[in-house]
Parts: sequence; structure tokens; C-alpha cells
Amino acid sequence: MERPSSNNCMNLIQPDHNTLLAKLEQAKRVVIITHTNPDGDAMGSALGWWHVLKTHVASVHVVVPNVYPEFLAWMSGADQVVVYDRQERNAKRLIQEADVVFCLDFNHPGRVDKAEAALRETKAFTALIDHHLQPDPNFHWSFSDVQASSTCELVVRLIQALGWESALSPEAASCLYTGMMTDTGSFRFSSCSAHTHRMVAALLDAGANHVQIHEAVFDTNSEQRMKLLGHCLAHKMEVLPDYRTAFISVTLAEQAQFGISKGDTEGFVNQGLAVKGIKFAAFFMEKDGEIKISFRSKGGFDVNSFARKHFDGGGHFHAAGARSTQSLDLTLLKFIELLPAHRHELEMA
Ligand code: MN
Repeated sequence: MERPSSNNCMNLIQPDHNTLLAKLEQAKRVVIITHTNPDGDAMGSALGWWHVLKTHVASVHVVVPNVYPEFLAWMSGADQVVVYDRQERNAKRLIQEADVVFCLDFNHPGRVDKAEAALRETKAFTALIDHHLQPDPNFHWSFSDVQASSTCELVVRLIQALGWESALSPEAASCLYTGMMTDTGSFRFSSCSAHTHRMVAALLDAGANHVQIHEAVFDTNSEQRMKLLGHCLAHKMEVLPDYRTAFISVTLAEQAQFGISKGDTEGFVNQGLAVKGIKFAAFFMEKDGEIKISFRSKGGFDVNSFARKHFDGGGHFHAAGARSTQSLDLTLLKFIELLPAHRHELEMA
């Protein structure tokens, strides 16, 4: 299926490889930074690129704004990642002193949370590798393709374009496979193409072990998470067939009751889409004094626009994040009241 184009028509920004190579040849210190609440694609692309870049540049560090989830801790190099909100002075110094800063899997400096000021102030050459809609045009160098399955896919394409395949170790290949797998819902989303699978084949050839990766990522649920999921499906999922919509909400009290930790609700939003006929799913959770929202869709309903328009968020056509500063009840009410205005789009989706 053809994906609709973004409204600024910047679906693909092809990079100038020679400019990048010239910068990297002179670079002594490189930082790779990715978005806050790093997911499989953020960690996979940052660490995959780190493994490869280390063979060309003396000093390369990965910085993440906050800590990555436990199910990604097995990744080779994860233990060397500098977590900004735990090691602020060190992280700031690395960003300040870097000759090149790679910005992976995010489209705007606002996505790195507390590291934003350091990123905006750095004198480094800034290089974007990303697949989110509407990339900020202020990076010095950009490789952006909103049709790409994942930032990991773009990193593989870059490695191939630079002729650096020999640097693709089994560790690097495993990191990059992980992001391609998680950002495509295990290779099921429409963003996954024959081209994606060809790159996956290259990663398997390079030594990625897909059996181990799937186990490490998916078979690590905590007991608390499984029980909260059961509770949500039995008692908290609201299905609105007229709007082909389903949503789940989780209160602070429920989080305490089930003793859940960070990341335990990851993927809950997708449960709604597993219901027959549902095209739009949402997940709402009380957290840090506001409501964190995730939207997912299938077919022709654009959750990026929906999130931007109504809930101060954004992301991709089929997956977006957002927030609300109203109470959970008021947020859910607002959400439900918005649906009639989108009924036609949802029916056509
Ligand atoms: Mn991504």
C-alpha cells in the first residue's frame, strides 16, 4: 500500500556521503545521541552505528537522555552508554567536545529532553539519521527517509553506501537487526518492504542471531507486567466499534497495585489493534504529573496528525506519542468527544 506523503514533501533527504566522510576523517571525538525513552530502534541504531564507527574513529560515545529499558540491556555496548540524567557532567562534556554529533531516530533537538541545551550549543558538526516525519532542517547533514522501516535500516543503507560492510560485526548486526525488528512489529507493518528483508538478510549473513534476539527482546516479561496486561484486557479496554477504536488507560493506583516498573506497559497500546475491525488504538497512562499517550493505527488513519492537532504530540503515520496535562478522566473524555469528528476517516480506514 502506498503511504501518504507528509505535508512538507520532505519524504527523503539524500545525504552527501563525501561531506560526511571528510568530517569523519578529521574527527577525533564523535558522539551518537538518541531520543529520550530509547526504544529498540534508538538503542539498536545508536549501538550498531557505534560498533561500526569505532573501527574508523578513535573516540566514539553513545549518549542517551535517560536510561534504556531492561529488555535492551543485553545489547553489546549497552553497558558503555552514557546516560545523561545520571552522568550529566560527563555527557555534557562529551557533547561539547565532540567534532561530530550523530542524532539518531529523532527529528528535532526537543526530543532529547535535558540534553537539548547541550545539543543546541555544541560546535560539533551535527548529522541526522532518522525516519520521523518533518525533520528539523537545522542539522548540518541529514539522511532522512520517512518511508524507511527504521533508523536501523538507514544505518545499514549508510554503511553499504560508504562501503563499510567489512566493519559489520556480529555485535553490530545484532543491534541493527533489533531495531528493524522492533520498529516493524516483527516485520509486519507496511513500512517493512522487500528492501527491508534484503537488509535483514545482510545482517544475518554478518552474524546476527535472530533466535537469540527474539528471545532476549520478547520473552522477558515480568510477572507484574503480565498480570497488569491481564487486568487491562479484562477490565480496562474500551472498544468503540462505531469508531473502529479501542483504548486502554492505567492510573497511578493501578501501577502501584501491580508493582510495575518502567517499561512494563510497553506495547499495551497495540492490544486494541488485535481486536477485529479496530483501526485506531490508544493507551493513556498517568505518569510524572501528566498523561502519557500512545496512538497506533492501521490502514488510512493518520495518528501523527491526530496527535499533533489534539494532544501536543506526533510521530509517524501509524504510531505517535502525545501528552495531556489534564486529569486522566478529562483526557479520556476529550478523546472520546473527538472521535465523532474523525468518524468518516475511521470508517474509510
Ligand atoms: Mn525508529
